[in-house]
Amino acid sequence: MCAQAKPLNHKQVRAPAHDDAGDNGRKDKLRTALEELAHAAAKKHAEPICTAYSRLRHASRGMHVREMFKRADEALGQSSRDLIVTAYSHRHCFMCKGGIVACRSCRGSGQVEKGRKCLSCDGLGLTMCDFCRGTGWADRDSLPREIRPAVL
Ligand SMILES: [Zn+2]
Ligand SMILES: [Zn+2]
Repeated sequence: MCAQAKPLNHKQVRAPAHDDAGDNGRKDKLRTALEELAHAAAKKHAEPICTAYSRLRHASRGMHVREMFKRADEALGQSSRDLIVTAYSHRHCFMCKGGIVACRSCRGSGQVEKGRKCLSCDGLGLTMCDFCRGTGWADRDSLPREIRPAVL
């Protein structure tokens, strides 16, 4: 209900230390990504978790995956990998519902004109979603490599 975004006050965001300038940009990105992930995790919405995770992967480039997950675990206070796998496996195709969309030729009516069946959909008024090839799930090719085996 509360739409107000509250700052995470458990781990106070530390002001960048004055003297370690070099890595700061990267560290900031990583920290932001971890906070975003923690925030998305708290709301338990699959899509934001996936978005935050892909940002985290980006920010932690060059870091070992295990190290990245370790940091994420710390930020979340739970197994980040499990959470992320769950989020990805709940990601539905955003173009359809269950792999099916209303037929474009007849706009879902099943007839091109009164008494004439639509041939594109065989009068069903529904066709397979092109986007997910009728699976109803988001494209599996977009799954990050390190969690793919666990999701599939
Ligand atoms: Zn049709
Ligand atoms: Zn679809």
